Amino acid sequence: MAGEERQQQQQQDRRAAATIVTSTGKSGSSVAFTFDDGPDPTHTPAMLDVLKKHGVKAVFCLWGDHVRQYPNLVKRIADEGHVLCNHSMSHSDMGGWSAAQVRSDLEATNALIQQAAPGARIAYFRAPYGSWGQAGDVAEQLGMTPLGWRMDIQDWTPPGAGELARRLRDGITPGAVVLMHDGGGDRSQTVQAVDTVIPEFKANGWSFDLPAGG
Ligand SMILES: [Zn+2]
Repeated sequence: MAGEERQQQQQQDRRAAATIVTSTGKSGSSVAFTFDDGPDPTHTPAMLDVLKKHGVKAVFCLWGDHVRQYPNLVKRIADEGHVLCNHSMSHSDMGGWSAAQVRSDLEATNALIQQAAPGARIAYFRAPYGSWGQAGDVAEQLGMTPLGWRMDIQDWTPPGAGELARRLRDGITPGAVVLMHDGGGDRSQTVQAVDTVIPEFKANGWSFDLPAGG
C-alpha cells in the first residue's frame, strides 16, 4: 500500500473507531453493576435473588453457549427488568477477527438470546477479555452499545467475599461501570459481596444506574 493510501486507510480506521462505554454518563454518585459469563444454573439465580431483594437493576453479559444451555434463566433475567448484553457465542478472543467473522458471531448470539427471551432488548455488547478489534464497530452497526468497564474487582480469582466487598467499597468512583461475574466458575463470593455492599452503598447515597447508551 502506498504511503498516501495507508494514511487514508488509517484515517478511516480512526473515524470508524467505536466509543467503548465505561461509565453511567451521569453526574453524581451513580454506579452500574455488570455481570459476565452467565447464565449459570447456580449463581445466576442467586444473584437475581439478591438484586431483587435490594431492588437493583443490572446488566448481564451473556455467553451464547450458556444461553443455549439455560434459556429459561435468560428469560428470568429479562423478566426481572435487567438489561441484556451480548458477550459472544464462545468467549473467544476476537481481537484478530475480521468484521465479517465478528458480525456472524454476534448475530448468532443475538438470535439465541432473542429465542430465549422474545422481545427483550439487547442493549450492549462486551468483547471477551476486553479484546475489541473490529467488534466495537460491528456491535454499533447491529444497534448495540460497546460496553467496557472502569472497575474490575477480579472476582475470578476468587479472594473471599469479604475481600471482594472491600474492593468494591474502596475502589468505587462516581459513574463507574463495575465488572463482575455470575458465570464461568464458582461465583458464590461475588453474590455474597454484592449482597453486602448494596445496602452500604445506598446508605452512603449511591444510586444504581445503567451504563451510558443503554
Ligand atoms: Zn467474559
